[in-house]
Amino acid sequence: MKVLKFGGTSVGSPERMKKLLDIIDPTQKQIVVLSAVSGTTNNLVEISQAFLASDKQKANELIKTLQDKYEVFIKELLNKPEFLAQGKEVIDYHFDILYAFSNDLFTVAEEKVVLAQGELLSTTLYHIYLKEINVPSVLLPALDFMKTDEDNEPVVDYITEHLQPMLDEAKDVNLFITQGFICRNAFGEIDNLRRGGSDYTASLIGSGIKADEVQIWTDIDGMHNNDPRIVKGTKPIANLSFDEAAELAYFGAKILHPQSVFPAQKYKIPVRILNTMDPKAFGTLISSESEKGKIKSIAAKDGITAIKIQSSRMLLAYGFLRRVFEVFERYKTPIDMITTSEVAVSVTIDDTRYLGEITKELSDFGIVEVDVNQSIICVVGDLGASSHGFAARVFDSLKHIPLRMISYGGSNCNISFLVKTDDKVETLRSLHNRLFE
Ligand code: ASP
Ligand code: MG
Repeated sequence: MKVLKFGGTSVGSPERMKKLLDIIDPTQKQIVVLSAVSGTTNNLVEISQAFLASDKQKANELIKTLQDKYEVFIKELLNKPEFLAQGKEVIDYHFDILYAFSNDLFTVAEEKVVLAQGELLSTTLYHIYLKEINVPSVLLPALDFMKTDEDNEPVVDYITEHLQPMLDEAKDVNLFITQGFICRNAFGEIDNLRRGGSDYTASLIGSGIKADEVQIWTDIDGMHNNDPRIVKGTKPIANLSFDEAAELAYFGAKILHPQSVFPAQKYKIPVRILNTMDPKAFGTLISSESEKGKIKSIAAKDGITAIKIQSSRMLLAYGFLRRVFEVFERYKTPIDMITTSEVAVSVTIDDTRYLGEITKELSDFGIVEVDVNQSIICVVGDLGASSHGFAARVFDSLKHIPLRMISYGGSNCNISFLVKTDDKVETLRSLHNRLFE
């Protein structure tokens, strides 16, 4: 069994939806995970915001505009009156749910119900289309098997226990369709896996049913070895290990939902990133295999703030770092990069909501300095301590760039450093020339 996930643009028009069958082979066992039609989730967010602001008139106008779009959509997707009528019924059902929120108290719980309608619509309409063209398929309700716990973490065992029996029941069917993104939370309420979460759904399903492979179909030819918007001549990375992909996930969130790597890694399910526009292209394969001695990718993240705490009390002391980290914990602020010397420690954060409070508390320990407008640059590949020469090549290409922090040895596959965002473009280009050209 394979799991194939198609994003919003891949189902973005009736034409694109019909074209999915160029990729889906109905003679093979597969679960197809669909996102909402592109733009729909954003529209649903706007509708929720209008409701949250108690602007019912605006909410209703937005709902009407979206409904009109779907009325046009089904006319192009479906032909026979019988199926067109079914499509119309589905649209009325889901939009009635949206209109009904006018009469209700609207909170974040209702917002999640609103957001869920996008995936419910796309999958149900696609299912009707398959019926019209006589391709047997089963629509699997994600709300019956996708679940998160009290910490908002998805429960893979729950998927195994609830989804596997549904698959076993339909032994003679090859094609299963289900919704990405949506789930139920620990209270049984409708919830979601956060924006872009359909990738995560696919990876969780793949893990839950021990699929042969998870395929993420997008509109690019895989993960690139550098930022194509900044550097000329970037190439798709053919193979990445789970560890390498996990390092890049923080940087490449737009291609693959960052959390998606972890279940696949744990259950050893290969993940392929493929291009709907060029289905024959190899894309990127993420698996347990690592390629010895190869540098895979360069990535960058902007909007980083560095904080340095300098204190003579750190010398020969224990427990100092714990007290520093506890300050960040109290303000629920993740630390990304750390470097230490004997009497100072520097950390980076990208969430600066509590920067003022954090620096105030840290100043109890010593002198605090803050540098804003920084970028983390990371080089990923097989950089283990047993190999040598990589660091030299990396730093040789950066002779002309001031480096604020360097982090190496945290894992076997990453060197990261912090530069001023003004120096980012030159850093990425210079590294690319030295490492890949
Ligand atoms: N439709 C959701 C979103 O736009 C989930 C997804 O597309 O992955 O965020
Ligand atoms: Mg996406």
